[in-house]
Amino acid sequence: MFPIQSTTIKVKGKPVKVHAISTGSVKVKTKFRAATKKGLFAKLDFVFDKEFTEWVPIWVWVIEHPEGIIIVDTGINANINNEDYFKSTGIINNWVNTSLFKFKIEPEEEIESQLKTIGISTKDVKKVILTHMHIDHFDGLKFFKNSEIVINKFEWTNNKESLPSLYPDWLRPNLVDLTQSFSVFDKSCSLTKANDMHLLFTPGHTVGHCSVLLSGDDHDILFAGDITYLEEQLINGEFSGSIQDDEGNIETYEKILQHSQKRPLVFLPSHDVKAGERLVNKVTFESSLQA
Ligand SMILES: [Zn+2]
Repeated sequence: MFPIQSTTIKVKGKPVKVHAISTGSVKVKTKFRAATKKGLFAKLDFVFDKEFTEWVPIWVWVIEHPEGIIIVDTGINANINNEDYFKSTGIINNWVNTSLFKFKIEPEEEIESQLKTIGISTKDVKKVILTHMHIDHFDGLKFFKNSEIVINKFEWTNNKESLPSLYPDWLRPNLVDLTQSFSVFDKSCSLTKANDMHLLFTPGHTVGHCSVLLSGDDHDILFAGDITYLEEQLINGEFSGSIQDDEGNIETYEKILQHSQKRPLVFLPSHDVKAGERLVNKVTFESSLQA
């Protein structure tokens, strides 16, 4: 289990607590995390890859924003331990999710229990932002019936790897259009009245993948979803094996590098074991580049 990591940053002069909570863990094929080939070959390569990575975290980000608590992604829930969990998703999806990935989570690692340990009830969560519609990002939704669920409309409509039979029945997300521009990102949408959090279009991993940027007074934090699995991949321009939009992926990498030259940026992918420490120690992308 990966322990909760918490920090406080200043946003418009006010202290804002930010927590990294890993809701269980996942293993993926090594060539899924880091591709050695491109396009379809990269996909075939990880399907036939026999080697799995070590257990890696599934980070959920909790922002105690003055306008209300916002969380980014929701992790997995303990039902995933049942052998039949993916049966309702069809034969292919069942095979993909039980053969290419390994998930594990104890009930006390679910997002609801872990939020309780830091004094937050799921009822207090104002907004849940999903970076993309993969199981390890949406599967904790069941705890947030009373929250506004925000998803990029394009991702909701076009991600063919989504598993709608596993969504809660009550799910009626707020599907947003990314009609604003912010910094170097030409498709985005403000998430707060204070304009200090933005949903940014960062396609590649999925066609409508988004990241969430929190603009602090001293540095920005990018909750990066699955843009990469590790910070090093962005530094070295390396792709992961599962890319839905190759061109989008290249542009996404470029835009993040450009933004990191304008503002100190802490880059936090969802499955990067070091992301929690970088959040707490405010390790910027620039300092990782120089290391
Ligand atoms: Zn994903």
